[in-house]
Amino acid sequence: MQDHRTVLAVGAHPDDIEFMCAGTLARLRSKGYRIHLVTMTAGDCGSDKLSPEEITGIRLGEAAASAAVLDASYACCHEKDIQIEYTNAVRRKVLGEIRRVNPSIVLTHPPQDYMADHEITSLVVRDVCFTGPMKNYMAEVGKPTDGIPWLYYWDPLECKDWTGKSVEPQFCIDITESLETKAKMLACHDTQRSWLRIQHGMDEYLEKMRQWSAFRGRQCGVGYAEGFRQHLGHAYPQTNFLGEVLGIVESSDTRAPLSPTRPA
Ligand SMILES: [Zn+2]
Repeated sequence: MQDHRTVLAVGAHPDDIEFMCAGTLARLRSKGYRIHLVTMTAGDCGSDKLSPEEITGIRLGEAAASAAVLDASYACCHEKDIQIEYTNAVRRKVLGEIRRVNPSIVLTHPPQDYMADHEITSLVVRDVCFTGPMKNYMAEVGKPTDGIPWLYYWDPLECKDWTGKSVEPQFCIDITESLETKAKMLACHDTQRSWLRIQHGMDEYLEKMRQWSAFRGRQCGVGYAEGFRQHLGHAYPQTNFLGEVLGIVESSDTRAPLSPTRPA
């Protein structure tokens, strides 16, 4: 059996996890779940003033500080921004992470998002959830996981696909009580926050997060929420474990139903 109190979140870049699912992670943490955060890159393109090496060092510290807010572990796979590829070498790294923590719940990017780094990360994570328990697959990489975890995709950025069309989550998690923890984690990414503040003259970094969380919240009749879709392909767990642990909220706004097939 999996350790049912361990959660792994994998984001392409430092701050993706914070924007998209940190409110849910904070709620899981408050229920005693152990949280592990992994980023594919250290965010080496996240500066127009510092060199890749300089910004990498700073952003690794920011990501670790954010993880510390949840008393979570943090690991980086040290791929490069905009260069994440779907290779066996990359799969090996992420497989090592999932086998290291043996999670019951995994959260990552949706299969379609606005940039390839996010989409490739999603595909790699989907793979390692499936192959983690396979004894003969990359047998030299850690101990096989106890089983395929519950896999969830957080919202695409701005809750839209690349055609600009709204993406409807299967369910949302009410993060009203954990919004400030989410903001505290995001604020750890000070290089990115400052960069936007200088460029746009306002604290857009935290404000955007609040707007997106409030948008999902409005759809569900709560203050703030995060949306998710569950991977329900062959062999993946079919129950909604995350929903059972935290309770789900659904849209009460008939103009923006969460699922077109949901009964009225
Ligand atoms: Zn990203």
